[in-house]
Amino acid sequence: MSEVESQLRKVARGGVRSGEPLSRHTSFKIGGPADFWVEPVDVEDLIRLIGFLQQKGVDWTVFGNGTNVLIKDGGFRGAIISLKAFAGLTVEGSCVRAGAGVGMERVLVKAVDLELSGLEFAAGIPGTVGGAVVTNAGGRSGEIGGIVRKVKVLDSRLNMRWISERELRFTHRSCCLSPGMVVVEVEIELESGDAGDIRRRIAGIRNRRRDTQPLESPSAGCIFRNPEGKSAGELIESAGLAGTRIGDAEVSAKHANFIVNAGKAKASDILALMEMIEAEVLRHCGIELEREIRVVGD
Ligand SMILES: Cc1cc2nc3c(=O)[nH]c(=O)nc-3n(C[C@H](O)[C@H](O)[C@H](O)COP(=O)(O)OP(=O)(O)OC[C@H]3O[C@@H](n4cnc5c(N)ncnc54)[C@H](O)[C@@H]3O)c2cc1C
Repeated sequence: MSEVESQLRKVARGGVRSGEPLSRHTSFKIGGPADFWVEPVDVEDLIRLIGFLQQKGVDWTVFGNGTNVLIKDGGFRGAIISLKAFAGLTVEGSCVRAGAGVGMERVLVKAVDLELSGLEFAAGIPGTVGGAVVTNAGGRSGEIGGIVRKVKVLDSRLNMRWISERELRFTHRSCCLSPGMVVVEVEIELESGDAGDIRRRIAGIRNRRRDTQPLESPSAGCIFRNPEGKSAGELIESAGLAGTRIGDAEVSAKHANFIVNAGKAKASDILALMEMIEAEVLRHCGIELEREIRVVGD
């Protein structure tokens, strides 16, 4: 065991796993090992952990549910910090406060129970609240940026503070969170609604997903952002790429902006397919696609 590892084991109360295969933690079921997988138990643990990693010059990144990332086959040299333990969820009136590690679906279930509306768009989005803020998760009927009031972050100087929705400047599948900031808690504002209407809207969204997305295979959702006024999926289809395969990575015939792991795809297969899509869409449509998923590791 290296000196850094033995010190890390003393610092992190939540335990440390070394050589953890990240394929276990991504919706793609792809990804080489991380040097360290750490699950801090609370904010104090998180601050001590990041302080230690900074001091030792160890690279680190945060994981939600791993549903919007592609981890390369070589894995990650450094520490992956999972915020699973940040699982608090409270509601006061129409104001919901959730820890960064809470699943969007769990918040949705709570909102439905309390007849609160505004989160229906989240039906079927498999990420955490923290991941949803960073990626401004959403769909046709809304996005988290539209209901967030403020976000509690730990900045790179290890100060904790609240950032308002305005400061976060949400845009399509993105927001302006400075590098090195960790979302620890999110406050969202919903509104009273009719339980029947809320349930009908959720059922409609779930049915549409089932009809239009390849939910039976591992994926990371949409690979590319929609260019202004256009659908990335339609552009990929018009370039004739639906169904194209490299190794076990396949452009879904059901939704061309999804790449699925049709067996034992490697990250290198997915990346090769992404590069092919980028080149072909540029050649056929003159449009440069922008990646929505985050590619991480070596
Ligand atoms: C089947 C399927 C359907 C999907 N449908 C949709 C959809 O309709 N709309 C949509 O927007 N997305 C969709 N997605 C993509 C994905 O679920 C969302 O982007 C989700 O919000 C990502 O959350 P996560 O917790 O999995 O984040 P992760 O994938 O774990 O992380 C994503 C990025 O956020 C960073 N991050 C995560 N948590 C934190 C934190 N607390 N603080 C700082 N940084 C953090 C990570 O470092 C990484 O860069 C879909 C994915 C799948 C697999």
